[in-house]
Amino acid sequence: MIDFRSDTVTRPSDEMRDAARDADVGDDVYADDPTVNELEARAADLAGMAAALYVPSGTMGNQIAIRTHTDRGQELLCDEQAHVYKWELGGIPQLSQVQPRILDCGDRCVPTPAQVREGYVEEDLHRPGTGLLCLENTHNSRGGVAVPKADIDAAADAAHDLGVPVHLDGARFLNACVALDVDPAELTEHVDSVMFCLSKGLGAPVGSVLAGSADFIQRARRIRKLFGGAMRQAGMIAAPGLLALENVDRLADDHANAARLAEGLNRIEGLSAPEPDTNIVMVDSEAAGLTGEELSAACKDADVKFHAFGDHTCRLCTHLDVDADDVDEALDRIESAVEAS
Ligand SMILES: *Cc1c(COP(=O)(O)O)cnc(C)c1O
Repeated sequence: MIDFRSDTVTRPSDEMRDAARDADVGDDVYADDPTVNELEARAADLAGMAAALYVPSGTMGNQIAIRTHTDRGQELLCDEQAHVYKWELGGIPQLSQVQPRILDCGDRCVPTPAQVREGYVEEDLHRPGTGLLCLENTHNSRGGVAVPKADIDAAADAAHDLGVPVHLDGARFLNACVALDVDPAELTEHVDSVMFCLSKGLGAPVGSVLAGSADFIQRARRIRKLFGGAMRQAGMIAAPGLLALENVDRLADDHANAARLAEGLNRIEGLSAPEPDTNIVMVDSEAAGLTGEELSAACKDADVKFHAFGDHTCRLCTHLDVDADDVDEALDRIESAVEAS
């Protein structure tokens, strides 16, 4: 089976399994786990932030950030296709009692400064006030777009001018750094916090990191406890996370495989796929007379797995466990599946 459902499907390497077994551990709720402490220090350094917090998932990292940055009853500004709004079970109102105000950021993926100013609500007797701007890079639902630093900075600066902090949902922000050839610490220069996943393209079995100022992370640590995310001998899972940090440069291979996949899909009658920025390929099957669900079902029967993402769109994600040969094999199978449908 060739699995393009997500870059979360990778299996930990033997080296990661060994590292888990051999990890030096302690009770992380007492800050006694040296492996977690090392991971947090290295992740903070990588992200160019003063401190970091190891969290079980990207969703929890984002939701902790939102809760830490905001007060109950405020508003949060984000793109209507943002993961925090669309794919986190309504966590913004459920966990922070904050109301999302969504913007259509289109192909740009992040709001223009004008959109930030228009979306901003000043607190008064009748209006709740804007507590946070959430940005996303790479932008998942818009096709793994690597948003340029200038656009991130401009949106963040506009928010800061209004006294609004900025969180970056950077589940795949290292993919953005590699694609844009920008240092991670530079890409986060104008935001107040960033979450990134170790469990996606970097190949760790579990875990994400939230990074920000020392004060922010201290407060986030209490919220992590509240959300049930404080773990004990977490060095067992943080050790493979440390190895995952070595996998940043190889994300370029995933991007090359995604480009190869998109090229091949474009050669199949009835399919079209825009050139991907990173490791996410969006393919349109309308001209083949197939809905996204029909295309994904036909390919699943041929042992190529991916998800429908819209009426006539499917999303395919490359990762550590697929190579160029797998891409070529998958393309042959997808072509046969489309011809037979
Ligand atoms: C995957 C993802 C998350 C959530 O990460 P999980 O570890 O799956 O909870 C958040 N934001 C974006 C943009 C993602 O792609």
